[in-house]
Amino acid sequence: MKDYLFLKKQDKDIYEAVMGEEKREAEGLELIPSENYVSRAVREANGSVLTNKYSEGYPGKRYYGGQEFTDEVENIAIERAKKLFSCKFANVQPLSGAPANVAMYFALLEPGDTVLGMDLSHGGHLTHGHPVTSISKVFRFVRYKMKDTSTGEIDYDELRKTAKKEKPKMMLAGFSAYSRELDYKKIASIAREVGAYSVADMAHIAGLIAGKAVKNPFDYGFDVITTTTHKTLRGPRGGMILTRADKEIAKKIDKAVFPGLQGGPHMNNIAAKAVCFAEALTPAFRKYAKQILKNAKAMEGVFLKKGVRMLGGGTSNHLILLDVYGSLGITGAEAETVLDEVGMTLNKNVIADDTRSPMDPSGIRFGTPAITTRGFKESECKRVAELMLLTLENKDNAKKKKEIHSEIKRMCKKFPVPDKFV
Ligand SMILES: *Cc1c(COP(=O)(O)O)cnc(C)c1O
Repeated sequence: MKDYLFLKKQDKDIYEAVMGEEKREAEGLELIPSENYVSRAVREANGSVLTNKYSEGYPGKRYYGGQEFTDEVENIAIERAKKLFSCKFANVQPLSGAPANVAMYFALLEPGDTVLGMDLSHGGHLTHGHPVTSISKVFRFVRYKMKDTSTGEIDYDELRKTAKKEKPKMMLAGFSAYSRELDYKKIASIAREVGAYSVADMAHIAGLIAGKAVKNPFDYGFDVITTTTHKTLRGPRGGMILTRADKEIAKKIDKAVFPGLQGGPHMNNIAAKAVCFAEALTPAFRKYAKQILKNAKAMEGVFLKKGVRMLGGGTSNHLILLDVYGSLGITGAEAETVLDEVGMTLNKNVIADDTRSPMDPSGIRFGTPAITTRGFKESECKRVAELMLLTLENKDNAKKKKEIHSEIKRMCKKFPVPDKFV
């Protein structure tokens, strides 16, 4: 590989691991819904000399000199982010999704304050106050759930009652394992009623929002959005915090990111975010976002036909949660392992009110962002869903699994990982 000339000469061990990963990504089906393939341009920006520079502070207000180019990079990233998500303020410095959330909590809350967020087994994320996180020792997290796991609908009446009783300072909408859309209007209005901030964590669906394939919480009055940039948005690993309109909130967020939580921003990473935002502003990206949804629907069709239970009864976004234990008698961990053997990478996942343990839960979670980047359309995605079920049905049949693996390798060859999108 031309790209890695110096690495190859200097450090064989790491070079070989990188090459191994490149091959793995090229030859297998990436179905983990939080993963994607970035463009070469994004990788070049991320691997640039900007990694050498300290830029503590914000554009025009830095602690060190030599910022003529870093200021330009950060300002461009901010302007593009604002345009992409229709908001007035953007902080592009968070190192990833989890630190973005930590900074956001400290910006808007006092220790001991209550946050009302989605139940973790119903789709919420670790960073929404799971007991294993440090943040759960600082703030008080209260939960809301789905009313009916066969439709995925949230119990909004219950949510309103809980909000009135618990008096949260923040209402949190966002998920990493939920396949339906939330009613942002209802959540924002309940937040207003009880005097809480409304915050959406759109880490998973940022690309779908940017591509206008799903609703933008800002259109329904949400105050703040936190996100990652490396999932459906198809950028470098990183985070971001957006503020719809309120300058005071935006100021608090800037202070909470730096100096509240972080030191120097990773300017190479911010440059790569800017490149990804420009890609996401193109018509081609809108098409991509819509295709992600169509492809998930095509997979849904297969599971509906075969009567395999999907949490929420199906999908309105990029991901599907299958109750493989309930429907097929195979545990999530076992399903993850067998599917990996035939070249399909996805993850085991707890399902709503799971009776099994998180290390071997009842479900698996997968999605279409990465295979859509490869160019898969509905017919290929339908076949992928069929192959998943075929693999699970033949989990002890080595010959059958070999055939399936060959078919998957052929599909991957036919749809190579692209270098560019614009
Ligand atoms: C992925 C995710 C995060 C965490 O992002 P990291 O970059 O892994 O720290 C936070 N919130 C939600 C909803 C996520 O899906």
